[in-house]
Amino acid sequence: GHFVAFHHVGKIYSTGTTALADVHFGIGEGDFVSFLGPSGCGKSTALRMVAGLEEASSGSVLVGGKEPKRVIRESNDIAFVFQEANLLPWRTVLDNVILPLELRGGSMKEHRTEAKRVLEMVGLKDYMKAYPRQLSGGMKMRVSIARALAAKPKLLLMDEPFAALDEITRQTLQMELLDIWRREKMTVLFVTHNVFEAVLLSSRIAVMSARPGRLSTMIDVELPYPRT
Ligand code: ADP
Ligand code: ADP
Repeated sequence: GHFVAFHHVGKIYSTGTTALADVHFGIGEGDFVSFLGPSGCGKSTALRMVAGLEEASSGSVLVGGKEPKRVIRESNDIAFVFQEANLLPWRTVLDNVILPLELRGGSMKEHRTEAKRVLEMVGLKDYMKAYPRQLSGGMKMRVSIARALAAKPKLLLMDEPFAALDEITRQTLQMELLDIWRREKMTVLFVTHNVFEAVLLSSRIAVMSARPGRLSTMIDVELPYPRT
């Protein structure tokens, strides 16, 4: 089976809103897949299901053949980056990145080494001791990405991570993310309503339409560079 599989997924919220109807597709390991579509077409709902934050009303979502909730309980294989960086203001950059590792126990020394590695990867090595309020929006997002990467997830979920950033910062972070994806061999699921962003980043684009929440088509993007 596919690494991430949507099996005829439907989602009706308790309010009566149908967010998704019969969404059926599979994603291979190592793909960078964007959910692209207008506001309200169910992109976030689909992503939150893969994160185990939302249950399907019909059908099922599986990651590596298992329920997402179980994968999250049993491993560090799934990480989530939201539009807001959601950093703890009373913790330094380093301690924000370490937090999820800390919660899972193990050696603090190893956690610190790993946190430093990912902070270096996102260009924040010199800001480890800073506090979130001292950082720009782009830097906060970098910390958020580093925190997600620290657990070495097999699957990185991102919900409009760059939407709140200015154009220049967004372009910089897009390039950095591409670089990280190529090096780390992760599978990425990325939500955006920005066509340019989807084309720039993805190896596959899941185009969604709001009639409501259907998968219109899956586009394979030929990458302009080799995967390393
Ligand atoms: P199954 O377990 O049903 O054989 P998978 O778990 O591998 O299928 O994937 C879920 C569904 O995705 C499949 O039932 C299939 O219809 C669909 N699918 C198969 N190949 C592709 C593909 N290349 N791209 C998108 N969807 C696919
Ligand atoms: P998108 O991410 O494409 O903007 P969403 O998944 O956020 O779409 O929303 C899909 C539909 O479901 C919308 O009509 C939205 O109003 C509705 N919706 C989203 N979350 C909830 C919720 N928690 N309760 C009720 N309705 C919701």
